Amino acid sequence: MRAFEYHAPTTLNEAISLLQEHGEAARPLAGGTDLVVQMKENATKFAAPSHIVSLLRVPELGGISFRESEGLRIGAGATMAEVAESSVIRARYQAIAEGASLVGSIQTMNMATVGGNVCNAAPSADIAPPLLAYEAEAVIVGPSGRRTLALEEFFLGPGKTALATDELLAEVRVPVPPPSTGSAYDRHTPRKQMDIAVVGVAAALTIAGERIERARVALGAVAPTPARARQAEAALEGQAPSDEAFARAAETAVTECSPIADVRGSVEFRRHIVRVMAARMLREALIRVRSR
Ligand SMILES: Cc1cc2nc3c(=O)[nH]c(=O)nc-3n(C[C@H](O)[C@H](O)[C@H](O)COP(=O)(O)OP(=O)(O)OC[C@H]3O[C@@H](n4cnc5c(N)ncnc54)[C@H](O)[C@@H]3O)c2cc1C
Repeated sequence: MRAFEYHAPTTLNEAISLLQEHGEAARPLAGGTDLVVQMKENATKFAAPSHIVSLLRVPELGGISFRESEGLRIGAGATMAEVAESSVIRARYQAIAEGASLVGSIQTMNMATVGGNVCNAAPSADIAPPLLAYEAEAVIVGPSGRRTLALEEFFLGPGKTALATDELLAEVRVPVPPPSTGSAYDRHTPRKQMDIAVVGVAAALTIAGERIERARVALGAVAPTPARARQAEAALEGQAPSDEAFARAAETAVTECSPIADVRGSVEFRRHIVRVMAARMLREALIRVRSR
């Protein structure tokens, strides 16, 4: 690993100033579970930063809070363990808690942050499909202030985000889900733990009377970015929830993804897993609505 200068700012402004000062030569560091590995392996084009700006002592980036009037705020520095254990997230945003609980091992979850998972922008990032299913927004801070972006627009490609080099993800905002909403996230991996998703699927359903009022389906690891399957969602809205409707929507989701073949699975295998898991997550989301 190349030598670097380590900065430990204690405010968000200080962190932004350091990024501004050092430009392309600097990288923010949160839990380091992606970045340090990449730096050791020289795996990315930014793999050898000469300035590391640690975010660990920046209190503005931490915390999880919920208000009925505003929804959920997850600080970029919140760890996966904090998200997985949050009582409000477990009760009202089940898929988000599930995504966080799948990130690596307990040790990984204690270090890995939501901001790091989102900003690393891996197509397989486990927190991404659940956040997309809940229409999360990214709150970005830079030298000229704050801006907000739909999370879907934040992801530009594998490892690429809408962040400028002097900007940080400060937090993720998630609206209050409508009443009678339930959600679920799971992924397929060759190994049960310590592996990345071959396919990840999040589903959220809002039921009004006997109909699906709102459906959200978000896919991970089957396109250059995590993304919603909007046609599958549209196929469900207004329908009565049933295994047949879920199977049709899952089939539609298969047509919306564009997986690659790699050591973890072929294109056809990934499409098949989308078919199976999309229907399964929709069924699970419905069970959760009905058990509320
Ligand atoms: C053993 C192991 C198992 C893993 N298993 C999984 C898994 O199952 N699922 C999964 O999705 N991931 C997994 N990962 C990957 C990793 O743990 C996650 O992506 C994690 O959430 C990254 O967070 P971090 O805080 O460690 O990020 P870091 O490594 O500190 O940073 C990651 C990237 O984000 C940038 N960054 C961090 N915070 C900010 C911010 N606030 N603003 C702007 N840029 C920022 C950094 O500059 C860097 O480019 C695993 C990693 C390891 C080592």
